[in-house]
Amino acid sequence: MSAACLACDDHDLDAGGLLVIDLAAIEANYRHLVGLAAPAHVAGVVKADAYGLGAVAVTERLVAAGCRHFFVAELSEALELRPLLPEGAVIAVLNGLAPGANAAAADAGIVPVANSLTQLRAWAALAAERCTRLSTILQVDSGMSRLGLSPAEVDELAASPELLRSLDLLFIMSHLACADEPLHPANRAQLAAFIAAKAKLGIERASFANSAGIFLGKDYHFDLCRPGASVYGLGVGPAAYGIRPVVRLEARISQLRTIPPSASVGYGYTFTADREMRLATLSIGYADGWPRALGQIGAAWVDGVRLPFTGRISMDSCTIDVGALPHGRLRPGSLVELLGPHQSADDIARLTGTIGYEILTRLGRRYCRRYVG
Ligand SMILES: *Cc1c(COP(=O)(O)O)cnc(C)c1O
Repeated sequence: MSAACLACDDHDLDAGGLLVIDLAAIEANYRHLVGLAAPAHVAGVVKADAYGLGAVAVTERLVAAGCRHFFVAELSEALELRPLLPEGAVIAVLNGLAPGANAAAADAGIVPVANSLTQLRAWAALAAERCTRLSTILQVDSGMSRLGLSPAEVDELAASPELLRSLDLLFIMSHLACADEPLHPANRAQLAAFIAAKAKLGIERASFANSAGIFLGKDYHFDLCRPGASVYGLGVGPAAYGIRPVVRLEARISQLRTIPPSASVGYGYTFTADREMRLATLSIGYADGWPRALGQIGAAWVDGVRLPFTGRISMDSCTIDVGALPHGRLRPGSLVELLGPHQSADDIARLTGTIGYEILTRLGRRYCRRYVG
């Protein structure tokens, strides 16, 4: 655990907020997914700093839980995490490698996802130059039109199989676009396209399902599943079950004040008191990833009591109406719940027209982070 975490406790908090990340819940979620996916293996997707929760701490915990496959988006993320992994573990770069990054990746033992024939040829050329068999994962586009070989490229590759034979091909993979809608026809269509590409290329081992894909059932599991969101406690559609919440976010009160009737609050004076009101100012704002759109519609929670935001969320602060609490319950330095038992990242996402993934990945870097469990 880092010194920054040891230095912070509830009574002596100089950050604007406390972000508590429950590693035991992360491990429990991972093990639940392992149980659902067996006999397929389950990777940990730890891109974007493990969805904002801290890739180092999360990766160490998943390694301890037996995870041996990791996915990140970029080479820099893989380079940071590679030293934490045991011998034989795989860390793969989903976005593939930029031209010129191949040598550095190979030196560090990092596995690129080849998303085009150009990337695959460049990796094979490096392997030939070094007289070694380099590992790769080949991505095919099964319908999402984002990353991976097009059907035409799959045909081209099928016609020149020596390219594949020169590499250690760990998996063929593809990615689902609509798995959080279990009845969406794209799921079956993508599955059929993936199976067809796999057969055409004669590749045995395959990886297809993200979190929501795991809940679609066995047909989608193949040899390696790639969940991120479910490991971090997010909801991924109506079929998901058995996932525990992982994060708690508490904001610190910097000031309390009583305002008279007709006083206004915050930028734009969008809120005006219709009575005497007791307000608390919180030391977090949209620069901490707390959505500005929650001004007027969102709330914080204390003792199970809802405390609505008054006026706009500022960059580094915001105000709540604490009139529903007894006098003296809150003081400067008290903490209020922003994410926790009374509202999840998914709840905040629904209120602000986005997804829980975006709420988590935008959580700011100024919070005091504490890992528990
Ligand atoms: C991000 C990502 C995942 C993980 O998706 P979740 O919905 O978070 O489980 C899996 N595969 C690919 C290719 C991804 O980009």
